[in-house]
Amino acid sequence: MNDNLLQEIDRMLRQCRRPLIVSHVRPDGDAVGSLLGLGLTLQESGKEVQMVLEDGVPLSLNHLPGADQIQRAPEEPPDCVVAVDCSDLIRTGTSLKSMGTPDINIDHHPTNENFAVVNLVIESACSTTEILFRMLKDHGWEIPATAAEALLTGLITDTLGFQTPNVTGHALRTAADLVEYGLNISELYRKALVEKSFEALKYWGQGLQTLQRENGLVWVSMDLEARKAAGYPGRDDADLVNQLSSIRGANVRVIFIQQSEEEVKVSWRSQPGFDVSGVAASFGGGGHRTAAGATISGTMEEVQARVLGATRVLINRT
Ligand code: 5GP
Ligand code: MN
Repeated sequence: MNDNLLQEIDRMLRQCRRPLIVSHVRPDGDAVGSLLGLGLTLQESGKEVQMVLEDGVPLSLNHLPGADQIQRAPEEPPDCVVAVDCSDLIRTGTSLKSMGTPDINIDHHPTNENFAVVNLVIESACSTTEILFRMLKDHGWEIPATAAEALLTGLITDTLGFQTPNVTGHALRTAADLVEYGLNISELYRKALVEKSFEALKYWGQGLQTLQRENGLVWVSMDLEARKAAGYPGRDDADLVNQLSSIRGANVRVIFIQQSEEEVKVSWRSQPGFDVSGVAASFGGGGHRTAAGATISGTMEEVQARVLGATRVLINRT
């Protein structure tokens, strides 16, 4: 890690009294885990912390201690703004609109735009919570067990339970250190990654009926009708994209989740060697080499044609 940068961030965090911490829209385990991990640690040291997620906390992460303190918008003017796990400012939503440049940006996405005054972006980290834990621990912050639980959850979810190709010894040692706070890793794993609602499984069934394959590319479409038929309340894919990795020989997996008649959310997942972050970025999105996403204007048919076309080019080139 960059020592000067870490020292500068530590100094800023110690000096502030009323920090605001934000993470990205459609929050995942690393977004919520980073927010709570940093937020609860700063709170423990006596600061007045505001934690903001524009879309609130998803059901699968609601069990985390402190989740009830997360607001959808800031209520008081902060004296330090920290973005965690956000690759660009747009991903933070609208809450920072009138606040100028954020003070601190801590992230692990290779597509990060370094949008803050001080930017700590470590691409080799498996999760933003892995960066945060090392930073807080090395600088002597008192990390409460509630924060440790959130930090471990971010590491579990971003690595899909330590199975992504970027998992390192450092990540596993970080997980082991976090377990030592008295955490039940099996229970955290089950709550954040395994448990789904009945409706989510019905929705998977709808999606899987559309499964298609072509030259190591597989894809699934989930339209508004499928969501309605399953009674699924979310606007996401209920994590179906991550299940598609179990298909042998599927080098690139794509899922299309219709948001409205004019907008489709697309998620890519790939085997190492197939870098999908560039394709996602070419559609205005971003992410990691093997997991990326974008929200694209157009009907389901239009978006599918464009995205499959660009993804085929990537596969043929690889
Ligand atoms: P997912 O497909 O599960 O939404 O996201 C996969 C990865 O891509 C995550 O790291 C997520 O942060 C990133 N990602 C998803 N959608 C977008 C987007 O619209 N813009 C950017 N910059 N990153 C995205
Ligand atoms: Mn992350």
